[in-house]
Amino acid sequence: MSSKVRVRFAPSPTGPLHIGGVRTALYNYLFAKKHGGDFLLRIEDTDQTRFVPGAEKYIIEALAWCGISPDEGIGGEDRGNGPYRQSERKPMYRQYVDQLLDNDKAYIAFDSAEELDTMRQLAKDAGAANWQYNYITRGNMKNSLTLPKEEVEAKIAAGEPYVVRIKLPRDHEVRFEDTIRGWVSVNTNNMDDKVLFKSDGMPTYHLANIVDDHLMDITHVIRGEEWLPSAPLHVMLYEAFGWERPVFAHLPLLLKPDGPGKLSKRDGDRLGFPVFPIDWNNEETGETASGYREFGFYPDAFINMLALLGWNPGTEQEIFDLQGLVDAFDLSKVSKSGAKFDFEKGKWFNQLYLRSQGEAALAKDLKAQLDARGLSCNEQYLGTIAMMMSERATFPQDLVTEGMFLFERPTEYDEKTASKKWTAESPAMIQDLSERFAALADFTEANIETAFKDYLAEKELGFGKVGPSFRLAVTGKGMGPSMFTICEVLGKEEVLARMSAAIETLG
Ligand code: GLU
Repeated sequence: MSSKVRVRFAPSPTGPLHIGGVRTALYNYLFAKKHGGDFLLRIEDTDQTRFVPGAEKYIIEALAWCGISPDEGIGGEDRGNGPYRQSERKPMYRQYVDQLLDNDKAYIAFDSAEELDTMRQLAKDAGAANWQYNYITRGNMKNSLTLPKEEVEAKIAAGEPYVVRIKLPRDHEVRFEDTIRGWVSVNTNNMDDKVLFKSDGMPTYHLANIVDDHLMDITHVIRGEEWLPSAPLHVMLYEAFGWERPVFAHLPLLLKPDGPGKLSKRDGDRLGFPVFPIDWNNEETGETASGYREFGFYPDAFINMLALLGWNPGTEQEIFDLQGLVDAFDLSKVSKSGAKFDFEKGKWFNQLYLRSQGEAALAKDLKAQLDARGLSCNEQYLGTIAMMMSERATFPQDLVTEGMFLFERPTEYDEKTASKKWTAESPAMIQDLSERFAALADFTEANIETAFKDYLAEKELGFGKVGPSFRLAVTGKGMGPSMFTICEVLGKEEVLARMSAAIETLG
């Protein structure tokens, strides 16, 4: 086996990739990069009944958005191990099935779906827990272990459909050490002779997965906990082939924020957050799902949040960029128990990333948000506005929505402020102020502030008497960032127009 670390993410294109799947890809990527190894992307599409068009494209786009780029495979290079889509590898599997058949590690079975159902029903009626095709029952079924060789050959020649099953030995303790879960031990008496191959030439997931991991020189299999029950079978397959097996690491589940069980799309819908990285739209069925990208998450924040769901860096540090994650990542510090999903924490990360971006990047975000809404502002102030609004923003769209008054003249005035702060004297005060503003040659923040303060001093008015109604008149709000900055950004003409509109509307 390769001395270089080689890991793979091997999703099945059955729909949009759940964030749990993204975390699996991320941990594989981090582990590979940490050890100077390779990260492969392989598409496991052997189950054509579950194939969903568009799912592969979605997976590639989602990983690209996260900054997780495969070195090899789909979306990466072909380093002589391709193709990397199992459906395109179909002709390669037959020889491995034959190898198992020749070595008495597998057998051919002709039982129809109805016959298998009958056996299950009989077992159920007799009170047995669940019927398995195994070392006991296979002796009573229609397979190459019970039928004469000529009959088996005749059936195959006649085109009768069959499957190839693994022939598990009786009473054999399958043991392996999982990096995260420790020693795992299962007796073959409790296992099923799983189907490896079908007569249509298609391998099942189990066979294709093992053959490909072997041929692609995979050193570590890092995947979700839901695959742990399959691992003993995989270990038995490696033994049957006489191949060295990779190291296994089964990652803990992502759990609901508010109770037991796996985080599902329904939880997201119920609690108002996405469980997919990017928006999904199944063109055939019309099924849609919302994603983190479109919700306004920065990929760095999303990745930071995901990385810490199940892995504890063992320090106080919580903020990591992708390279920081690579440097700190340690597979053996991934926890055994499920990680409770925490959307609020994700928002917290996003807010931090948003604020730490700096003015130029924020200005770009603001511009994109304005363009998307057909709004505009004086471009010279994009940076100022973005910085000002960033204190109130968790998502880029908040840069606009929290400061809508900067882009649109108010049509409504905050009722509470209007009833408490807009007094009989307000119209005259706003009128006086607007006259002073009109006289300013240079409508700058500093000049506006001076004019405002001079006015208060001359009239012996406290700030509380004029400030709130001034803000209400210009922004329609009771609270917000510095009025002097806001006024400069809006420009003289607009500020004066708003002041006179307020006098008219509020009376
Ligand atoms: N195709 C499997 C999946 O969809 C891969 C499991 C594995 O990594 O072995 O998750």
